[in-house]
Amino acid sequence: MGYAEFYRRSVEEPDAFWAEQARLVDWKQPPQRICDDSRPPFTRWFGGGTTNLCHNAVDRHLQARGDQPALITISTETDTERTYTYRELHAEVQRTAAVLRELGVGRGDRVLVYMPMVADAVFAMLACARIGAIHSVVFGGFASVSLASRIDDARPKVIVSADAGSRGGRVVPYKPLLDEAIRLASHKPSAVLLADRGLAPMERVPGRDLDWAPLREKHLHTEVPCEWLDASEVSYTLYTSGTTGQPKGVQRDVGGYAVALAASMKHIFQGEAGQTFFCASDIGWVVGHSYIVYGPLIAGMATVLYEGLPIRPDAAIWWSIVEKHRVSLMFTSPTAVRVLKKHDPSHLKKHDVSTLRGLFLAGEPLDEPTARWISDALGVPIIDNYWQTESGWPILTIANGVEKKPSKFGSPGVPMYGYRIKLLHESTGQELTGADEKGVVVIEGPTPPGFMQTVWGDDERYVRTYWESIPGQHVYSTFDWGIRDQDGYYYILGRTDDVINVAGHRLGTREIEESISSHPAVAEVAVVGVADQVKGQVAMAFVVPRDQGAVADPQGALKLEGDIMKVVDQQLGAVARPSRVRFVSLLPKTRSGKLLRRAIQAVCEGRDPGDLTTIEDPTALQQIKDQLNA
Ligand code: AMP
Repeated sequence: MGYAEFYRRSVEEPDAFWAEQARLVDWKQPPQRICDDSRPPFTRWFGGGTTNLCHNAVDRHLQARGDQPALITISTETDTERTYTYRELHAEVQRTAAVLRELGVGRGDRVLVYMPMVADAVFAMLACARIGAIHSVVFGGFASVSLASRIDDARPKVIVSADAGSRGGRVVPYKPLLDEAIRLASHKPSAVLLADRGLAPMERVPGRDLDWAPLREKHLHTEVPCEWLDASEVSYTLYTSGTTGQPKGVQRDVGGYAVALAASMKHIFQGEAGQTFFCASDIGWVVGHSYIVYGPLIAGMATVLYEGLPIRPDAAIWWSIVEKHRVSLMFTSPTAVRVLKKHDPSHLKKHDVSTLRGLFLAGEPLDEPTARWISDALGVPIIDNYWQTESGWPILTIANGVEKKPSKFGSPGVPMYGYRIKLLHESTGQELTGADEKGVVVIEGPTPPGFMQTVWGDDERYVRTYWESIPGQHVYSTFDWGIRDQDGYYYILGRTDDVINVAGHRLGTREIEESISSHPAVAEVAVVGVADQVKGQVAMAFVVPRDQGAVADPQGALKLEGDIMKVVDQQLGAVARPSRVRFVSLLPKTRSGKLLRRAIQAVCEGRDPGDLTTIEDPTALQQIKDQLNA
């Protein structure tokens, strides 16, 4: 079957199509009702079916490949490496599940995971899935204020964490950040389970903090069966940034997600059981959830969990992993490739990478020079794929497992099966059907399996934020601009909202502004994303200080810039730190007081700021120009 027909069936005969895909996973009770869209936009998949993500990722492989590698953990930070077979992974997950149960965690309870890239993090996620607890993984690069807002929203019974992570050989203690976050949060977890890696000293809060190792020992032989969950029960929440300062908990189901991932591993990634998948993302992001943890394991593959930089000890490290573990498929971000590109190209020739069949890139726009460079260097297909935390799996790419199709540089590809994609005019809501017309990329319901169910605890916010942003239309907005060429390939042209993408990491400018505003010397602030050669975008802050005198001389400005960066580091994490903080006496606003972000961004990127008829004081933009040239 060609892809056109495959796609047509997925959207015109969704019940038949997805009933077939549902056979890719194990069910305790097979689903009765495939797609239930009786309460749009809350599509429910596989009603009546009961299943379990951990069973599909681990237990069901025991018979056929119990002694094959499942999880390969490699840390170039601690110089450690370990392979867990499916049988060993099964045992570790049961031990962790037993510990969580002992801490009172049951079906529907939340467990917040704030962990570096270590095996325990994967055990914790799978253990939650096993007992029907809802995990909420928070990226280890986030600091106490970010973490506190997630604790308050998720209200976890237990938090799982560690003494420290490590980055570029520098130990990053997690525990003090976690303690501060719990202090700031109004919700208090009943227990904190701690993995002690021996990297940083930890203070334990009596009665709350527990060491993992002795508890694991206690449950070395405890068996914990999988809970059979309804397909539409919640598997996890994952926080992502939007236009407000308050992150949204993207909520995902169990059955739809299992089927979506199994189908994507077959049709998009072409991953085969027994082979190795190396996704160099982080478990704190959606790519890590779907393609480090669940996707490859559901497909019976070995998955690599890598803690470290792509250039340490040198820029050949990834290729040495590919050679050693006979990696078939790799997944990373364009930024990582751009970083590698700055290093000696001979690193790519040092290792035998002939097992590699494809490199998947996602998270941010893939520019043509980067795609060409890595494609020439590796000699394998480079497959761009466009998606979001909200979708859980690719929205636009090429499904080479269904039909081999050429990729086009600059385009992630065509709509994936199950996604009804349209381009709409931003203000009229009219559909744009011509080639190369720029519009907002939207998805028409019913949303496919694996797609977010709602915003955790706030159905209304889900509807208001995503489904009511385009006048007169009840469609899901991706908040991305796009065009479609005459062959049906899409091109993504950046966000329509104030979300920025730094090195593939999604950040809300509002969150960064709120953090900067908390500095007592700051009167007003605007944060914009500015194009960057390596990171795609960086955050740039323009601050109006309360006292202009404080920044009158370069030393004063430098000191306040450093202090503001420190505040962001401590509150949100270094990941959100602006690349520069510049000082002005006023910000460009409309006469009604609305910040002209797009104009600021244009000036920063050396572009024409566009229509400025509504600007209150044009000297504000001139000040920004002067600062950039200073
Ligand atoms: P996240 O939710 O962190 O995965 O970020 C999703 C956003 O990243 C999307 O809305 C896009 O703006 C951007 N993005 C992700 N993948 C791609 C891609 N392949 N090409 C262009 N932009 C992308």
